[in-house]
Amino acid sequence: MVLLEKALAKITLSLDVLHKREDGFHEVEMIMTTVDLADRIELYPLKQKRIEVTADNQYVPNDERNLAYKAADLLKRTYQIDTGVGINIQKHIPVSAGLGGGSSDAAAVLRALNRLWALDLNKEELAALGASIGSDVPFCVYSTTALAKGRGEKLSMLPAPPPCWVILAKPNIGVSTRTIFPQLNLANIVHPNTRDVVKAIKKKDFPSLSRQVGNVLETVTLNQYPEAKRIKEKMIQYGASGVSMSGSGPTIFGLVEHRSKAHRIYNGLRGFCHEVKLVRLLGHE
Ligand code: ATP
Repeated sequence: MVLLEKALAKITLSLDVLHKREDGFHEVEMIMTTVDLADRIELYPLKQKRIEVTADNQYVPNDERNLAYKAADLLKRTYQIDTGVGINIQKHIPVSAGLGGGSSDAAAVLRALNRLWALDLNKEELAALGASIGSDVPFCVYSTTALAKGRGEKLSMLPAPPPCWVILAKPNIGVSTRTIFPQLNLANIVHPNTRDVVKAIKKKDFPSLSRQVGNVLETVTLNQYPEAKRIKEKMIQYGASGVSMSGSGPTIFGLVEHRSKAHRIYNGLRGFCHEVKLVRLLGHE
């Protein structure tokens, strides 16, 4: 028996950092949503008691460092499951891109093993477990649209944003979130207006949402990687409406309301950017 689960990519429509906390982490305020780009995960019972992970991407570990492995291991230990599981990950979400691929794989494994091992846990319980794997895992358990606070694990659910196309463009570099946050100069940032982004989403107001997207981590990543900055400039120049960086980057996304325009921008960017994708914004289950 093989179980299939999709792990959706996420983008941050807005990402704000409020202050540095006493525990060393940053207090964030992020609005996250999902796009129609997913890793495909196959899970199958193993006779042996171990967890086996395979992935078709050289940058993704095949062992206990894989977040999907950590998710299976956590459930196995918490609920004393005596059987093993094989996890095969077909990566479609670019790695170290700011699109939450690893967290989404972990969340997909939590959802799928909840069924395979008949644990009968609800999403809230899975999200609470997922928080110990990574702060974006709770969001990925739901994979809808949410305002996230704390380290990203405290969620308030939002309706889906207005439907639109999303162009994702990534230069040929990987960025690790852990290296970006410490370089952020909090005195030197323009905060996005999270409340107005929430309002635009609730009103399904595409022009207002496009004007409000923003990410304070751009001050670090775009300075460090000029190729990402150039992609952002090109995307604006080609006419995408809401252009911002996702997560800690380096992926730049552009929101576009109409398909023909989205295609034009996508084709224009393909000429000089390493990886470009044209997807739909989802934002709901
Ligand atoms: P982060 O904010 O955690 O950096 P990201 O979306 O930018 O997230 P990911 O694609 O999740 O980046 O990968 C970050 C790191 O996690 C990579 O170094 C990768 O080797 C490791 N990793 C562990 N498990 C996975 C997985 N299932 N898929 C992708 N990367 C994984």
